[in-house]
Amino acid sequence: MLNRREFVRAAAGASIFARIPNLFAARPAKYDLIIKGGRVIDPSVRLDAIRDVAIAGGRIAAVEASIAGDAADTLDARGKLVVPGLLDIHTHTARSAEGPPLVLQDGVTGWIDAGSQGADHIEDTIAVARSSPQQARVLMNIGRRGILPEGDTMDIKNADVEAARDAISKNRDFIAGVKARLSNNVAGENDYEVLRRAQEVASSFGLPVMIHMGQTVSPISKLVDLLKRGDIVTHMFAPPPNSIMDDSGHIVPEVLAARRRGVWFDVGNGQAGHMRWDTIAAIMKAGFWPDTFSTDWNTNAHQTGVIDLPNCMSKLFNYGMTVDQAIAHATVNAARIFPLFNDRGTLNVGAPADVAILELRKGKFEFLDNYKGKITGNQRLFPSATVLGGKRVTHA
Ligand SMILES: [Zn+2]
Repeated sequence: MLNRREFVRAAAGASIFARIPNLFAARPAKYDLIIKGGRVIDPSVRLDAIRDVAIAGGRIAAVEASIAGDAADTLDARGKLVVPGLLDIHTHTARSAEGPPLVLQDGVTGWIDAGSQGADHIEDTIAVARSSPQQARVLMNIGRRGILPEGDTMDIKNADVEAARDAISKNRDFIAGVKARLSNNVAGENDYEVLRRAQEVASSFGLPVMIHMGQTVSPISKLVDLLKRGDIVTHMFAPPPNSIMDDSGHIVPEVLAARRRGVWFDVGNGQAGHMRWDTIAAIMKAGFWPDTFSTDWNTNAHQTGVIDLPNCMSKLFNYGMTVDQAIAHATVNAARIFPLFNDRGTLNVGAPADVAILELRKGKFEFLDNYKGKITGNQRLFPSATVLGGKRVTHA
């Protein structure tokens, strides 16, 4: 039996122990992460203001002027832009396993590999997409052997409808469409027939076709007539021959008609033959603006004029595009194109918490087209940090 003093001491001790979990053990924080004080630009809800963004359970929990409440992690975003995770719809990220983590550091939380492989080796790119930390899908090259130095479909036998159908039916979950590369050094005189076959395959699965335009044998007017609602034209700023603008400075009527029926137009920066400043200036001036940016990214991006998606976005600041518009093109617009991105491209409360933190630096910046042309701009976006599924991405 305990005497009274012993009892009191024991009881006090017990009560102290009982309180320890409350005092010291990890009481779950209200939020997993708060991104503090950044300029939040979310075109999906027309927001451009200084805000805190709170994240819980991998989703956006609150976007408010000042969010109190404790958080397991805090990211100081003062002086920076806080935008929905960037979506890049034309990349070659799936060419190697190092691709996905590299573009994640650029703020890219969703990517599409645009035709690196065809039916014969589509499993290689699907494996990279499947193990990618961020959302990823592939477009299958209609040329069954994928990208070839001698031209994917210079031999028309490579555009094999049966092989393509077979590969898609086996991989419906990861093939998001069909890519048709149509330049004269890729498809030669076969461009129209290659696209016709790509469309035959894609349509039978209800999937989009993405065409790589520019320097084709056939006129663009003839090619875009084969495109249906939801299809994508990449390399839209490709200079003549067969640019989307005719010699008298007008957008080709069939191109205007394609946009009216719901065909998307994408930048596809790339390295060679896809963009030249004078063509960009003329097309932008004509008011035919892109729906989306894309990089046409490869692992060598830092040695080319691509660098990263924020850099490619910054190029159009020099042709009248505002920062908010640029963010829209790389987020909410891209989210509309592929069902995979349905709930992305937004910081709306409840959305998966994919966030890009960017720096908008002022100064003198040099930008490159695909023809060694240089222009100097006075602002450029730089990637600063990425949050994927509510978790801060740690840079390697
Ligand atoms: Zn490409």
